[in-house]
Amino acid sequence: MSKKPKFQSPTGMHDILPEDQKYFQKIYNVVEDVVSFYKFQKIETPILEQTELFSKGTGSSTDIVQKEMYSFRTKGRDYLTLRPEGTPGIVRAYIEQGMVNLPQPVKLWHFGPFFRYEKPQLGRHRQFWQFGFEVFGEENPVIDAQVIQISYNILKELKLENLLIEINSIGDSQCRPYYKKLLVSYFRNREQSLCANCRRRLRENPLRILDCKEEKCKRIKSQAPQIIDHLCEECHKHFKEVLEFLDEIELPYQLNPYLVRGLDYYTKTVFEIIENSSEGRALGTLAAGGRYDALVKLLGGKDTPAVGVAAGVERIIEAMKNRKIQIKKTRQPMIFLAQLGALAKRKCLKLLEDFRRVGIQVAESFGRDSLKSQLSRADKIGARYALILGQKEALEGTIIIRDMRTGRQETVKLDKVVGEMKKRLKKL
Ligand code: ATP
Ligand code: MG
Repeated sequence: MSKKPKFQSPTGMHDILPEDQKYFQKIYNVVEDVVSFYKFQKIETPILEQTELFSKGTGSSTDIVQKEMYSFRTKGRDYLTLRPEGTPGIVRAYIEQGMVNLPQPVKLWHFGPFFRYEKPQLGRHRQFWQFGFEVFGEENPVIDAQVIQISYNILKELKLENLLIEINSIGDSQCRPYYKKLLVSYFRNREQSLCANCRRRLRENPLRILDCKEEKCKRIKSQAPQIIDHLCEECHKHFKEVLEFLDEIELPYQLNPYLVRGLDYYTKTVFEIIENSSEGRALGTLAAGGRYDALVKLLGGKDTPAVGVAAGVERIIEAMKNRKIQIKKTRQPMIFLAQLGALAKRKCLKLLEDFRRVGIQVAESFGRDSLKSQLSRADKIGARYALILGQKEALEGTIIIRDMRTGRQETVKLDKVVGEMKKRLKKL
């Protein structure tokens, strides 16, 4: 057995190797394409933020803040955290950059790495990528529906199937406190039968008991009061309208009265998109989001309604691989540039630039000297033409065009070869 190398990547953090870059690129392109249509603009915020932004924004009773953050004190004695999620940073930027003065709604999207100290497993890493988007300054339920629709469209566009949207409303500061009380009194009477985690949640974050995955807690919660029956009039109306919009655009959603999401800031609509296959379930949720009408104000801005979503790139890639979704290879160059001798090599270096400037892909293997091995390389990548610059041609200012299919060769002037190849490629 080979010895372990001295240095390894940190637990739960991975290299993204060339073979996986095509998935990242594909997802990035699809997201950019889709969200641009809806006039979202890209934002990048720092990977580090003040710790308090998350303890206050994401919420002190969340798993993220309680267990999952990478926080440290800097030499300047600032207390910073590697961002575990995107929304607080974007809200901070919205406030700090005065985006409230722009025409509303302000629509922003992002794509980047996030960090959570979690137990590494399938679909769960310590450094992972998310893309997401946020809409600020619009309270109309049509935006909730649209954010769900766009998330769904992106996953569809990536050829994922059997997507299921789960949706719920968790009310707002008018109706949730009363519901919380009902819930606490229901669970308090059954506290002994709850798992240890949920007994803690009962005191700190009772809504989270609703999405506990333990069998015994699942059984108890199935009789628990449901928030949907206790929404205030405003939240009820909002939710009803969101569902009507979803019906209108025929999105396949399912009401899930236990969906509460892990973040403290949500109000009204919350949703998740899962791939509804057995492998998909194991991977967990692909995209999740909701409305957060109180967060901007909580973090020091003006009262601004908002709604957003975030999706896990690694989980989407895993789902794509499970489904054997192929990503088209970038087309191999049709031309291979071969050279023989020092002068020819120098001239080829320049010729390669001439091709690049007109946008024609050319492969080469300048490190090799033998013509035979260069031509076999040309063959291997399936080049249609090899351009051969030998010593004699280099001196005469010519170059040989070899048709790799027929083996036919022809000599042309070196300064005409780019134009000639352009013509030939057009005919293919
Ligand atoms: P979960 O319930 O699976 O822990 P979450 O509620 O913590 O998810 P969000 O904070 O809403 O997740 O993040 C949005 C998306 O980011 C998730 O749906 C998932 O696709 C992805 N994600 C979250 N945590 C991780 C992780 N540790 N590794 C990989 N992807 C993740
Ligand atoms: Mg989590």
